Amino acid sequence: MEVRRRNPDRTEQVPGPCTVAELLERLDLNPTTVLVIADGQLVTAGTELGADASVEVRPVMSGGAGAPARCHDCGAAAVHEEPRHRSAWCSEHFGDHVERQVRHAIDRGDGDDRRMFSYDDHLLVAVSGGKDSLALWDLLLRLGYRADGLYVGLGIGGYSTRSQRVVEDFAARVAAPRGGVLHQVDLEQEQGFSTPQGAAASARPACGVCGLSKRYWFNRVAVEHGHDVLVTGHNLDDEAAVLLGNVLRWQDGFLARQRPVLDAGADNQVRRAKPLYRLSERETAAYCVVRGIDYVVEECPLVDGNTGVANKDLLDELERRSPGIKAQFLFGFLDRAPQLWPRSSDDVELVACHGCGMPTPRPRDEHPPRCAFCRQQDRVLDALPVH
Ligand code: SF4
Ligand code: ZN
Ligand code: ZN
Repeated sequence: MEVRRRNPDRTEQVPGPCTVAELLERLDLNPTTVLVIADGQLVTAGTELGADASVEVRPVMSGGAGAPARCHDCGAAAVHEEPRHRSAWCSEHFGDHVERQVRHAIDRGDGDDRRMFSYDDHLLVAVSGGKDSLALWDLLLRLGYRADGLYVGLGIGGYSTRSQRVVEDFAARVAAPRGGVLHQVDLEQEQGFSTPQGAAASARPACGVCGLSKRYWFNRVAVEHGHDVLVTGHNLDDEAAVLLGNVLRWQDGFLARQRPVLDAGADNQVRRAKPLYRLSERETAAYCVVRGIDYVVEECPLVDGNTGVANKDLLDELERRSPGIKAQFLFGFLDRAPQLWPRSSDDVELVACHGCGMPTPRPRDEHPPRCAFCRQQDRVLDALPVH
């Protein structure tokens, strides 16, 4: 059979017939980190693949075989199974399962059981062109929320060009008919440097420079356009990997802030929420396939220096050995966090930045407050060659 692999894109011939589980074993792949698509359909571990099948093995960026599975809700052939839930679903009921998880996250918020947002709130979804953020925008609009999108152009060559195209296409085809508006910020135009230029000029890791710029523009655009909540596509794998990093170094300040919903701490700051925290990367990728959402499968070429990737790999291996361990780790933390790391332990007084007016912690000395974004911009623009 012909097997298409991604990152890098290549095709190889594998002798068939065999089941999906056998194919992944031959390719030495961890089944929890990929989706298998045969002749355009998602297939589960026990599905038999013919000798002439055309198969795509798609990584989902995270860094049991038996008889073919049946849908938990209706008994039809399943397209996706989740060992964590010991369940499988057909396309229609898998979509329902994903919506239920998001509904639960929005209504119960976090360990405090507070609602993330209501139908009165105007949401801004940070969309990158990847599976999580597009699935999230789709889900929020389907659930009837008023949700706009924000795409930040990072200037990372062909990767950014393709991401922007995918986001614009989704916005026109899916979001606009349901009232969702796409906002865009181009980093080079708005702040004077792209992510690669900023990283080179400041000699700092690209993800650090990029993350600071993105967080800044997400909040600023939300404030300027009157949105109540900034919503991001962080999923269960992202949050579990961040938690592992925070626990390994016992970073109390970060642990106190690692919540699925964070209130605004000052004027010019909006609430932030992560409604996908109960869904794995495999589930959001499968959701996109089932709903026909085109997303950028390739990884950002600058991700190499990102330490979160190693933590994701470790958790993937643990999940392969004990399905459900990631969710137990994250949800167990969220249940306990309000007592162990009360919100008040993290209260920092925020004041307006002298440069841009956005919130920043009050400085300890008498200097005028200047936020991390403005300080980064000063450093980078000073170091960049004058055009
Ligand atoms: Fe930015 Fe790093 Fe993510 Fe690439 S991997 S988009 S550089 S944060
Ligand atoms: Zn079904
Ligand atoms: Zn500032």
